[in-house]
Amino acid sequence: MTEIAFIGLGNMGSGMAANLAKAGNDVRAYDISEDAVKRAVEAGCKAANSAGAAVKGADAVITMLPAGQHVRDIYQEHILPNAMMHALLIDCSTIDVDTAREVALDAARLGFRAADAPVSGGTAAAAGGALTFMVGCREQDFSEVEAVLKPMAKAVIHAGASGAGQAAKICNNMLLGISMIGVCEAFVLAERLELDPQKFFDIASKASGQCWSLTSYCPWPGPVPAAPSNRNYEAGFAVAMMLKDLRLAQNAAQNLNADTPLGGAAEALYGYLADKGYGGKDFSCIIEMLRGKLGGPAS
Ligand code: NAD
Repeated sequence: MTEIAFIGLGNMGSGMAANLAKAGNDVRAYDISEDAVKRAVEAGCKAANSAGAAVKGADAVITMLPAGQHVRDIYQEHILPNAMMHALLIDCSTIDVDTAREVALDAARLGFRAADAPVSGGTAAAAGGALTFMVGCREQDFSEVEAVLKPMAKAVIHAGASGAGQAAKICNNMLLGISMIGVCEAFVLAERLELDPQKFFDIASKASGQCWSLTSYCPWPGPVPAAPSNRNYEAGFAVAMMLKDLRLAQNAAQNLNADTPLGGAAEALYGYLADKGYGGKDFSCIIEMLRGKLGGPAS
């Protein structure tokens, strides 16, 4: 049994902590929300009444928090002052690459081993133990990081040194945002050309337009029954989350002078959708905007 501190028990962290407990680990769970801690206890974790209390004596410390500032603060105030020297510090939140590198450097200066390990896969994958982790850490630490993450994972991939996990995450999600808009535009044009959407799907999924946004997450209802398009774009990967990731990608691109015009356009389009009140809907609902079907605010 490994003692694991888990901090941040929201939509993602709740399922992840539950899977670690299910695998036989002793999980000490902390969140600023008491309800979130209660739910974690029901799922087999032990309640910690502060972040510091969760961290003390743990072999591994996992954070799953909203943004870079939360991660920086919790490392400075609670994790670094309380962790045991041998503890593996793993941040699974999606944050900017610079903060991820700073946090890892601060930890390393004190002699800790730290990894950034953001995930691909939404709340269903978090609950089902089927996340893909992209890990930034020293080569020699990876196998231990992998062992800790395994009960929550479909795949754990070493991306490179500190920050590389976050770099992989924002590049992947920029590609996803762009490809989803491309698929939506193709359906919009197919509709105007009076091409049957199912026929278009059958052909494009076997032709050079094939991609994950089309064949696994089709924004047109029907061809992929499990896709959120079949349930009024509910319970998927929220527009607000996609926008967060596109902003991280665009900030990085601007700082580094990388030319990402389609990433910029995707950010603007998702920003518009969020401003219209659709931040909580699945990101594939952008097809409704492109079809001119966004009426009033999201229901
Ligand atoms: P969430 O808002 O549901 O959960 C975050 C949790 O952190 C909340 O329960 C909140 O109370 C807690 N928290 C905030 N500050 C805290 C603090 N100082 N101490 C302890 N707990 C604190 O968010 P989420 O959907 O679970 O996402 C978490 C991270 O995972 C984000 O970085 C997000 O970008 C990333 N992510 C989310 C998804 C998704 O589909 N939801 C997919 C991939 C990655």
